[in-house]
Amino acid sequence: MFEKILIANRGEIACRVMATARRMGIRTVAVYSDADADSRHLAMADEAVHIGPPAARESYLVADRVIDAAVKTGAQAIHPGYGFLAENAEFAEACAKAGVTFIGPPPDAIRAMGLKDAAKKIMENADVPVVPGYHGDAQDTDLLIAEAEKIGYPVLIKAVAGGGGKGMRRVDSADAFEAELAGAQREAKAAFGDDRVLLEKYLVKPRHIEIQVFADGHGNAVHLFERDCSVQRRHQKVLEEAPGPDVSAEMRTAMGDAAVAAAKAIDYQGAGTVEFIVDVSNGLDGAPFYFMEMNTRLQVEHPVTELITGQDLVDWQLQVAAGGALPCGQDDLTITGHAIEARVYAEDAARGFLPSTGKLQRLRAPAEGPHVRIDTGVREGDTVTPFYDPMIAKLVVWDHDRASALRRMSSALAQYQVVGPTTNIAFLRRVAEHPAFMNGDVETGFIDRYGDDLVPESVPASDDILAVACLSVLLDQTAERQVQAAQSNDPYSPWHRSDGWRLNDQGHQVVHLKDDEQAIDITVHYAADAYVVDLPDGSVTMRGEREADGTLTIDLGGRRSSAAVVQNGNELTVITHGHSHRLVLFDPLEAFGDDEAAGGAIASPLPGKIIQVLVAEDDEVAKGDPLIILEAMKMEHTVSAPGDGKVTQISVAAGDQVEEGNEIIVLELAGD
Ligand code: ADP
Ligand code: ADP
Ligand code: MG
Repeated sequence: MFEKILIANRGEIACRVMATARRMGIRTVAVYSDADADSRHLAMADEAVHIGPPAARESYLVADRVIDAAVKTGAQAIHPGYGFLAENAEFAEACAKAGVTFIGPPPDAIRAMGLKDAAKKIMENADVPVVPGYHGDAQDTDLLIAEAEKIGYPVLIKAVAGGGGKGMRRVDSADAFEAELAGAQREAKAAFGDDRVLLEKYLVKPRHIEIQVFADGHGNAVHLFERDCSVQRRHQKVLEEAPGPDVSAEMRTAMGDAAVAAAKAIDYQGAGTVEFIVDVSNGLDGAPFYFMEMNTRLQVEHPVTELITGQDLVDWQLQVAAGGALPCGQDDLTITGHAIEARVYAEDAARGFLPSTGKLQRLRAPAEGPHVRIDTGVREGDTVTPFYDPMIAKLVVWDHDRASALRRMSSALAQYQVVGPTTNIAFLRRVAEHPAFMNGDVETGFIDRYGDDLVPESVPASDDILAVACLSVLLDQTAERQVQAAQSNDPYSPWHRSDGWRLNDQGHQVVHLKDDEQAIDITVHYAADAYVVDLPDGSVTMRGEREADGTLTIDLGGRRSSAAVVQNGNELTVITHGHSHRLVLFDPLEAFGDDEAAGGAIASPLPGKIIQVLVAEDDEVAKGDPLIILEAMKMEHTVSAPGDGKVTQISVAAGDQVEEGNEIIVLELAGD
């Protein structure tokens, strides 16, 4: 076994790999970019090597620097994690050349599966069914249009070199084809440096079911059952589970055998995932399944497989890479219980899942234990930057059956507290608690179909939320006055009293809050050992204190609960009863001179690069019309018109770099 390995990755997966290495007594080396100089993965490693600036293509993607770091530190092997260099055959070859073991499949196996078109040809030859479509070499637009016509709409354009849902576009009719093709090619070129595409029949009601496979260098290959990853947004997974809801033993065996055949067809070694798409338009029973692609690496969602099989897949990877045999055979593997993973992302479900960035001012995860596992690469105080994937954590739960696991999931999500970037936590909870999901009624269109039920609507702050906000403000004031009193020469001065005493006043004060533009004034009276707060639904006696870790304990008319409030400038984020709510503290006197926001000025929703400006000054636009295409985190985002109107100013041009909040375009909205 290796004595020291280097992990050529960052974030949660780097931490995940190091956890197993440490357990096995293997020393670890981290690599890091400038943006990660103070990150969790670095703190976990025994040694760390700086490899460049924040942009991945100048750091985590530079094979030479990573290999140099391994050589320099005497690491005998490199674990690539997922993403970055994980599926790069040249990198695997360069490792071998430098005398460092690549913890992954042989370069030829990576190459065979690296391009989706070539992979489909290999699978056809191995009698594994593939999705009907076009995967030829010729790429001219007219030919692709003709092929799409032949397949019949809707079709799916996929980047041949694709991954992570990038460069993928669904096209419903011939007239939209060319524009979507151009978009897919652009995205593919930017993300993979290869703009070739293939076409597939778009299945309207599919499930994504994938099989975890493992093979060693001694001719052994097994599968570790399936994962269902059907709940996706932008063709990217959000929730994954194992075993797949309602998957029969026969289907599991048929898919498992096909996946093992796929692995054998390319002399595979190590961990891999064979992804299938299952056409469930006529139900799951006897549904046809088709090979989609093989991911020649450890998958993001591998923990659900670990929890139902009791195996550590990173341990297996290390053993296989060190020349060992698989730790067990097919017959030794069994499924126990049910596991579900939710990807906690810094993103805004209400705004088309736009990634969000910023400092994690508060980050409290549910307690880990036999039922709850958290894989994360960030800590409270860390920042989600625009440079990498905005995943905050993977929350994985396990229980004896699916219904119990789902209950664990929703209660764990309710305990998650994240303040800073917008997150998908409330969204995930709605999915986990949705009757259709609870019923196992999953398919890849789930989020689109139930979108309105899933995106949390903005509701006015409840009395409890307002009370918690007031308590936090009052406790802060008291603490501040006590500090002043302690510093003052006259501790008895009325100016330093902490009970709200005022000249000519009856011991009360008004807390001014704003809830989504709605001003709410709350009068608080000081009683002997409590406050009486006049809330919209009536007055209530309130007591409470702040614990050392910032948690508030609050007693409202005899009901006790705990809450958290994070203040950032004037903004208060209140977390109580598993929900979080933003309020603004304001001073009505200061509010007077406030500038009105310019009616139709549209700000960039996130930091990124302008790819294309689709309108010109003086153009008339209708609500929803695409105005500007922006690229951020390697994905394209379209900024659309918020209402009917006319373009009066365009502040950016293609190629410009913008920050979140920069004005990019101004509309004069009709009716303004
Ligand atoms: P699939 O390729 O089937 O979508 P995954 O969901 O495991 O499988 O990951 C897809 C790809 O997206 C990964 O190879 C990686 O490039 C990228 N990716 C997904 N999540 C992350 C993440 N948290 N950090 C970095 N890259 C990620
Ligand atoms: P990536 O490499 O980006 O993971 P995949 O080929 O694995 O790309 O597809 C990602 C997702 O897109 C699938 O999980 C599925 O939801 C959807 N998808 C892929 N192919 C089809 C298809 N032919 N019809 C409908 N949906 C598809
Ligand atoms: Mg995939």
